Amino acid sequence: MSSNQALFERAQRVIPGGVNSPVRAFRAVGGTPRFIARAQGAYMWDAEGRQLIDYIGSWGPMILGHGHPDVLDAVQRAVTEGFSFGAPTEREIELAEEILKLVPSAEQVRLVSSGTEAAMTAIRLARGATGRSKLIKFEGCYHGHADALLVKAGSGLATFGHPTSAGVPAEVVQHTLVLEYNNLEQLDEAFRQHGADIACVMIEPIAGNMNFVRASVPFMTRLRALCSQHGALLVFDEVMSGFRVALGSAQSLYAQQIPGFQPDLSVFGKVIGGGMPLAAFAGPKAIMEKLAPLGAVYQAGTLSGNPVATACGLATLRLIQQPGFFDTLGARTRRLTEGLQAAATAAGIDLRGDCQGGMFGFFFADHLPQNYPAVMATDKERFNRFFHLMLDGGVYLAPAMYEAGFVSAAHTDADIDQTLAVATRAFQTLG
Ligand code: PMP
Repeated sequence: MSSNQALFERAQRVIPGGVNSPVRAFRAVGGTPRFIARAQGAYMWDAEGRQLIDYIGSWGPMILGHGHPDVLDAVQRAVTEGFSFGAPTEREIELAEEILKLVPSAEQVRLVSSGTEAAMTAIRLARGATGRSKLIKFEGCYHGHADALLVKAGSGLATFGHPTSAGVPAEVVQHTLVLEYNNLEQLDEAFRQHGADIACVMIEPIAGNMNFVRASVPFMTRLRALCSQHGALLVFDEVMSGFRVALGSAQSLYAQQIPGFQPDLSVFGKVIGGGMPLAAFAGPKAIMEKLAPLGAVYQAGTLSGNPVATACGLATLRLIQQPGFFDTLGARTRRLTEGLQAAATAAGIDLRGDCQGGMFGFFFADHLPQNYPAVMATDKERFNRFFHLMLDGGVYLAPAMYEAGFVSAAHTDADIDQTLAVATRAFQTLG
C-alpha cells in the first residue's frame, strides 16, 4: 500500500503539481492531498485505507452518494452496449427530455462533456444570437476556464477586466466586464454605459465558487429587468446549483419569489452526469436553433452525448425525482450547517453557515458575506486549521475556504452527528 505522500511525490514527477485540476493539490490549505482508492455511499477511502466522510462529492455530481446500485446497473449495461458511437442515440433524447421536463425556461438542450465547454458555448451562442460582443460576469463566479471568462475586475466601476491567467491575451478579454456580485449600483452603471452592446450576463445564481453566496432577490430582479430592457441575454450558470439546490435548480427558487422569472439560457453540468463527463446548455428553441447544423453558431464534440455518460446522468436524474428527495436532502444539509454554527458558537467562535438543497457553505465570520471581497475577508487561517483538524478526524471538506460543500442522499443522520462531533472537538482546539 502506497502512502499519500509517496503517491504525491510520484505524481509530481509526471503530472504538473501532481494533479489534473489545481484545487486537488491542497495549495490553499497546505499538506498532502489524499489519493482516493475507492468510494461508496457517503464515504471515500484513501490510499492508506483511511475512511473519510465525503462532503465534496466530486465537487457536486455525486448527489446520490457514490456507487448507487441503480446508477451502477445503468452504467454497466451501457458499457456493454458500446462506449461511444459518434452517432445519435435514443438515450440522448431521453436525457434531453428529462432535463427539459424539469427546466421550464428551456425548450431545447445540447449535451457536451464539461461545464467549461457548456459555459463557453453558451456565450458564443448569446453573442451569435444578439450580434453583440460584450459580456458581464461577476467577481467570484467561476464558469470554467474558457479564455474570455478568465478575467478579474478592472480598476474602476464598469471598466473591462484583466486576464487572471497567463496565456490569455488582454484583447481576448477586452469585451468582458467584471462586476461585484450583489452590487446594484455597478449593475445599473454597466448597463447605462454599455447596455446596447451587452450580449449576455452570466451568473452563478447561488455562487459555489466563492464558498456559498446567494444572489439577492432585489439584485436578481434588477438583473432580469435590465437584461430584458437592453436586449441582453441572462445566462444562468447552474453547473453547480443545477438539480442540486432544488429539483428545478436555482431558477425555480427565484421564480417562486420573482413573478414570471426565467433566465434566457441555462448551463448545467455535474449532477446531470452523475459523475461522468457530461454537461449541457439549454434555452428557448428560437435561440438554440441558431446552433449548427441549423444555424451559424458552431459547436461540436466527439464524445458529446456519450452513451455511458448519458446512462449515468439519466439514472441519476430519475432517482432525484423520487417524492421527498429534496426535502430529506435539504433537512440533512441544514442539520449540518446549523450544527456547525451551534458547535462553533458554543466554543466562542464566530461562524455562519448557509445552505440550499444539498449544497452548503460556512464562513469564519460573524455574518454571511454577500460578495467576493467579503468572502476573502473572512478568517482563512482559521479555516485552514479547521480543515486539517476535520481531515485528521475523518471528514473530507473542500480544501479551500472559497469552495461550497455538498451533502448527498447517502449521508445519514449518523454521518452528520459524527461530523458534528469531530467539528466540536476541532472548534475546542481552535478556540
Ligand atoms: N461553472 C460552474 C458554476 C462550476 O462550478 C464549474 C466547475 N466547478 C464550471 C462551470 C466548469 O465545469 P467543468 O469543471 O466541468 O469544466
